[in-house]
Amino acid sequence: MTHPEMTEDLCCVDERTGERALIRVDDAIRQGVALARPVVEVENLGLVDAIGRVLADDLHAPFALPPFDNSAMDGYAIRTTDLVGTGPWTLTVAGRVAAGDNAEAAGHVGPGEAFRIFTGAGLPELADAVIMQERVARDGDKITISEAVSSGSCIRRKGEDAREGTLLLPKGTLIGAPEIGAIASVGLSEIGVFRKLRVALLCTGSELRQPGETLASGQIYNSNRFILMAALCQPWIEIIDLGAVKDDPELLRETLTQAAANADVIVTTGGVSVGEEDHMVAQLRAAGGEIEVMKIAMKPGKPLSMGRLDNAVFIGLPGNPVAAFTTWKIIGAEVAATAAGLLEKSPRGAIVKAAENSTRSPGRQEFRPARIVGVSESGHPQVKLLDNSFSAKISLICKSDGFAVIPAETRHVRQGDQMDFVYL
Ligand code: AMP
Ligand code: MG
Repeated sequence: MTHPEMTEDLCCVDERTGERALIRVDDAIRQGVALARPVVEVENLGLVDAIGRVLADDLHAPFALPPFDNSAMDGYAIRTTDLVGTGPWTLTVAGRVAAGDNAEAAGHVGPGEAFRIFTGAGLPELADAVIMQERVARDGDKITISEAVSSGSCIRRKGEDAREGTLLLPKGTLIGAPEIGAIASVGLSEIGVFRKLRVALLCTGSELRQPGETLASGQIYNSNRFILMAALCQPWIEIIDLGAVKDDPELLRETLTQAAANADVIVTTGGVSVGEEDHMVAQLRAAGGEIEVMKIAMKPGKPLSMGRLDNAVFIGLPGNPVAAFTTWKIIGAEVAATAAGLLEKSPRGAIVKAAENSTRSPGRQEFRPARIVGVSESGHPQVKLLDNSFSAKISLICKSDGFAVIPAETRHVRQGDQMDFVYL
């Protein structure tokens, strides 16, 4: 073991307890991702059903795209060898091809001839350029061209988008609008996608009531359930909603066992801190599971715990709603994306600059709710950091655009300091 004084992890100190050897956030992500066993089962779906799902195999272009030379403009297909010397030149319109026509059947363009052509129409034989109709004067079956046209202009060449055999989409691609377009463009009516990731969601806490119920003294509404439902609401996820469970060890153990029997990923909130009513870690172990990641140098989110139970990855998020949301966005979502077989896993980020000075306690990497308030002289978004103490403040996260990432060792953020930023 390395002596703590000799490691970089000196920055990973909890400011309240002085506790060292917290796990760095990027290490926690790496370890969490390593716990995931990606889905392997594949289902073949029609294209509409495949939207928002995860591509199960590399997709190569089965033929060239576009499949034939075609016109990029409405105009005239010509032979540039006809435009010798200085213009203007006059050509005879001897044919016509529109999109969908068989260009081969339209015949070839002879010397001194032009074919009327429309966007997407196949290029007739012997034509080597298209001139757009706005650049031509037409009179009966004659056109006059006044400026030189170079060979190849306004032509979309066969295979210029993708040659036959080109990798169009790698396995693990999330199928969005462009991707389903690519799949359709090669004529597939079905595509193999990974089956949906089954995510069991369980909120814990004896104080929780469902919205709509009446609150007794000491009770609060279960907001985490809905925050996480929203975050998990993805076409590639099937949510198994286990509602809320009291801080009762036996009940928790039973529910975890049941969750592991049905889910690939178990997401819980609450009960992972060190209080007497925090039973999650102990009950996961009692159910036969293992905790591999805990005590993270992250603010909020130090108590986030991850491990496995049977065939499921366990992601135990903290109870405070903003902490639950933040740890899900920064760590949990990446683990789930890996388990779903997704290639791109990190949240969308940017480089930003601080709009004003602020001071904090160093020790843990912080993900501070922040609002974009302008653009700096360098062109970076400028962000205002919101309240220092925020892990239980839902209203604050509603006012933010994302999280400013403050390095663990930073005590003073100064106006103009560059920071990473993660969008909500
Ligand atoms: P815990 O992690 O269980 O110690 O909870 C930390 C804080 O978050 C406590 O104030 C809880 O009341 C609160 N909390 C836990 N679960 C939820 C939830 N599902 N919705 C809203 N607040 C919660
Ligand atoms: Mg609790």
